[in-house]
Amino acid sequence: MRTLFLNPPSYSGFDGGAGSRYQARREIKSFWYPTWLAQPAAMIENSKLIDAPADDLSLEEVLQRAKGFELCVIHTSTPSFDNDVKVAEALKKACPGLRIGLVGAHVAVLPEESLGASPALDFVAREEFDYTLLEVAQGRPYSEISGLSFRENGSVRHNPDRRLIEDMDALPSVVDIYKRDLTAENYYIGYLKHPYLSLYTGRGCPARCTFCLWPQTVGGHVYRTRSPQSVVAEMSKAKEHFPQVKEFFFDDDTFTADLSRAAEIAKGLGRLGITWSCNSRANVPREYLKIFKENGLRLLLVGYESGNQQILNNIKKGVRIDIAQEFTRNCRKLGIVIHGTFILGLPGETKETMEDSMRFACGLDVDTIQVSLAAPYPGTELYRQAMANKWYDADALVRNDGTQSCTLQYPHLSSAEITAGVKRFYTKFYARPKPIARMLAGMIKDPLERRRRLREGREFLDYLRGRTRAPEGSETAAAAS
Ligand code: SF4
Repeated sequence: MRTLFLNPPSYSGFDGGAGSRYQARREIKSFWYPTWLAQPAAMIENSKLIDAPADDLSLEEVLQRAKGFELCVIHTSTPSFDNDVKVAEALKKACPGLRIGLVGAHVAVLPEESLGASPALDFVAREEFDYTLLEVAQGRPYSEISGLSFRENGSVRHNPDRRLIEDMDALPSVVDIYKRDLTAENYYIGYLKHPYLSLYTGRGCPARCTFCLWPQTVGGHVYRTRSPQSVVAEMSKAKEHFPQVKEFFFDDDTFTADLSRAAEIAKGLGRLGITWSCNSRANVPREYLKIFKENGLRLLLVGYESGNQQILNNIKKGVRIDIAQEFTRNCRKLGIVIHGTFILGLPGETKETMEDSMRFACGLDVDTIQVSLAAPYPGTELYRQAMANKWYDADALVRNDGTQSCTLQYPHLSSAEITAGVKRFYTKFYARPKPIARMLAGMIKDPLERRRRLREGREFLDYLRGRTRAPEGSETAAAAS
């Protein structure tokens, strides 16, 4: 079947779930590559991948481009679900013969409710959906496809679960799909060089952080990896396909979860002369950091989450504050840039623990930070805790402009106080002489960097102003309606 993989049009600047863990319109324009869709697209002959938000395509343009396809797979997420269903309905109306399926963590956890949302939806491919979609595209009867939920005689039927993929090397490269269907220049991440390219070398994370979406829904807790040889071969191809790319990002949940493998890959990348970066926990020993740095590592994206040990224990982070501090000192000494991510509003949060996190971040003095609101997505332990304890306060995770809103509140801490903490955190961190000096130095050195930082600065201020102005928990808009 001619298959269209669609990251649907949504809120302006919305970074959806096909490549982004926390789906929202961000502080500055950011798009991750839709790798979750590119992977099955690489397995199905004559497929096509459309990333509407990154390519700034309207619903009308998507409807035009969908003509001639027999199957359409839409990646959806909790915050964008209602909007994505409207896109599916518009597609079905424009192309009545089109079969439409949904994929993503939200529908993997809630297949029955998701299919119930609209008759325009034909199926949900749950869990890891690559081979499920291949079988659908090959025309296999729905009743024989593991991992599929679909309508049958007026009700929803759920086939047995599909096993997680073990042989990751058997999956074809996503780089060819990126080259065929995507425009690298349309993908921005503020702390990565532009243009960048991101992909996965494995799926799953052994850690058990209670808020973390993918390992608890689609990726599992075993880090299933491609061999170092196959990763290095793919990166060699990526370098050839995308000579303009300045940085390659390994977006595995935790690329450093298998340190000896990561070191072997690093050495291969060093031979290729590639600048690379990856997600990391704040506990990588110095000897490995040194190997990575000597072989092209530029930046680590580190989820510190909180500067309070009790909060880290509450969310099962499995990292000690003192180890995180030592790790950060080592990175600084070795010249590894760190983008640190923090979350406000996790269980146990108080006004004092929010201050702890701000002090901690300033003390670490990482290069850049991101501060998010705790997001209790269905399928996570945090969601179950929030429901059981009645912390869950609103029915939408994004506001009517696509930005994240605070859906958690505690008897001693309101959602408004948590939201205000985000602005205070950013201000405390960035209004210090060191980050300002670092930014100015980068802008003076590089005119391209200067233009980009000025644009991002404007977007960031607008974002903070918007977050302050808009009402809490206002309804999710139907951008596609
Ligand atoms: S270490 Fe990172 S990717 Fe792994 S479960 Fe925790 S937050 Fe998620």
